[in-house]
Amino acid sequence: MNFDTARKRMIETQILARGITDRRVIDAMLKIPRHIFVEEAMASQAYNDNPLPIGEKQTISQPYMVALMTELLELTGKEKVLEIGTGSGYQAAILALLADRVYTVERIRPLALKARKALDSLGLLNINIKISDGTIGWKEEAPFDAILVTAGAPVIPSGLVDELAPGGRLVIPVGDQYEQTLVKITKQEDGSIEQQNLIGCRFVKLIGKYGWEGEE
Ligand code: SAH
Repeated sequence: MNFDTARKRMIETQILARGITDRRVIDAMLKIPRHIFVEEAMASQAYNDNPLPIGEKQTISQPYMVALMTELLELTGKEKVLEIGTGSGYQAAILALLADRVYTVERIRPLALKARKALDSLGLLNINIKISDGTIGWKEEAPFDAILVTAGAPVIPSGLVDELAPGGRLVIPVGDQYEQTLVKITKQEDGSIEQQNLIGCRFVKLIGKYGWEGEE
């Protein structure tokens, strides 16, 4: 298996063919080796057109979903970005190439530790990981120019909207546990909120104070 070839093919058939046009997003996804964010036994499937299990009943998102959500954040390189749901760390790696600083929160410790290792192995130094409930935000570091939630929420946690800087964008899947709508919230310069409901999607549950109740 040649991973570089698989990655180029992923970009052509899954990302470009479906209308992603942000050149910076495409270049970041060409650069980051997605296969190091999945278990070794699954490395050969890392560039397939679907999510994959990463342990702890969680998943790394489908490549197209990563591309679409990242494009919606409209990053130029100067931003401070918050991600809720570090998971494998793959999405955080993409964000790290496209923004100035990335703050990412994961509630499951073993996933956060594994993600840290993978991100360190790529020498990505502008990522902070916190093990915590991300539905309450990251007060000490707010405001953020962009916030990305990579787990499905029952409602939009209002604290996250509060942590958006003027002009900031929040992208979050909202719905029941079986299907959600990808929602983009834009905070205007005057503080007013614009909401766009985009496409249907399916994510694992956002569990926490302002998310779903935990199963444990
Ligand atoms: N962005 C990830 C996808 C992760 S799947 C990637 O690129 O691999 C969603 C992740 O959100 C899971 O790891 C899950 O444990 C985490 N999660 C769920 N609720 C959370 C919460 N309240 N705070 C932080 N992380 C949460």
